[in-house]
Amino acid sequence: MNRWITIIFIVIFSLIGFSYYKRIFVNSAEMKKINSNNISENSENIAEDNQTVDENNKNFEQSKNKCEYKKYTISDGDIPADMFSEQAKFDANDVVALLSASEEIYDFTKLRIDREIRFCFEDGEKASYFEYDRNIDDMIVVAREGDNFTVEQKPIEYEVEEVFVEGKIENFLYVDAIEKGMSEATIVTMADVFSFDIDFTTEIQKGDEFKVIYEKRRRFGEDGPDGNILAAKFVNQGETYYAYYFKDGEERGYYDSEGKMLQRQFLRAPLSYKYISSGYTGARFHPITKKVSAHYQIDYAAATGTPVVSTAKGKVTQASYTGGWGNMVKIEHANGYSTHYAHLSKYGKGVKVGATVTQGQIIGYVGNTGWSTGPHLDYGMRLNGKPMNPLSLKLPKGDGISEGNLGGFEEVKRGFEEKLK
Ligand SMILES: [Zn+2]
Repeated sequence: MNRWITIIFIVIFSLIGFSYYKRIFVNSAEMKKINSNNISENSENIAEDNQTVDENNKNFEQSKNKCEYKKYTISDGDIPADMFSEQAKFDANDVVALLSASEEIYDFTKLRIDREIRFCFEDGEKASYFEYDRNIDDMIVVAREGDNFTVEQKPIEYEVEEVFVEGKIENFLYVDAIEKGMSEATIVTMADVFSFDIDFTTEIQKGDEFKVIYEKRRRFGEDGPDGNILAAKFVNQGETYYAYYFKDGEERGYYDSEGKMLQRQFLRAPLSYKYISSGYTGARFHPITKKVSAHYQIDYAAATGTPVVSTAKGKVTQASYTGGWGNMVKIEHANGYSTHYAHLSKYGKGVKVGATVTQGQIIGYVGNTGWSTGPHLDYGMRLNGKPMNPLSLKLPKGDGISEGNLGGFEEVKRGFEEKLK
């Protein structure tokens, strides 16, 4: 009989515990009222077993000296409160205090799958410190002092190495660059850097060449995500383009050899390499072609569903079905320009009349609506209402580097020039 009472007791207690954890994450409004300082140490720790600390984890960046680290990777289905309880030995009150102390900086109820969290155990059973990678550049650092949690955001410190890669297009840029050891992210960034001059979806040819110097980053003895491209050169159809990364005061970006920002009012093309290259292999490559037709409209033959981007920032003046054009988006831009994108299969998120769009924002997807004999994008541009050929558009480059920083820029440029030759 006694045994049954014990079992019932255990069941009731587990249910209470479970609903308490659940409440922490459901009712965040209630949470805000709780002051982390006022929580008394009234809850008991659940059975804890001794943690064996992986020998490999000793090298972790440490803000405290005597610290044994334990690494945990967030996995699908992890409940934050349970994870903190299991890994950090935090009790329910600790979790509430942590969430309250961190709410201005990071919402720990929204831990991302596959992200790493590193706990430091100094004294006692509970973690006294932990780090969570918020993104590839920043981490959230939490220190526990008794019942108090201090939460900060800090830049992740990588070991950075400058690497140089050069290549020639033999198959496709993506395949050739991967073979040279570049990461997909850096290939896409390179295409982005030159996207004001080169349409990477249709204008790359066999024999084109690239040279790129970028930051390869390592952490804990393993490859991390690449850092910035520092300088690059791209030879497209005999034309040579340069890019140098530079911080001109608050402004940071890519400048050409003359110190003019590469960014212009319009992207070269309404299809972005970013959405086309992603993960394809040579065999799966679906080539995109373009042809200029009457009234300078450009037909991009591309697979249905390929994202279409606005070539410049502007205001949507139309996002509806129009006879032969099918689903069509029209955008009005600064300096008297407007663009249209027709035969779309669907519209981009939030794209409706009156909406503001940024340069490179997805405004729709390639389709076959209206009078169209196959999936393609019809792209057109007008200046003061008159059709014009976007491919012959010669817009001035962006601002030059401020006088005071020009010397600094020249120095940066000189440092890379020799390699890029
Ligand atoms: Zn067309």
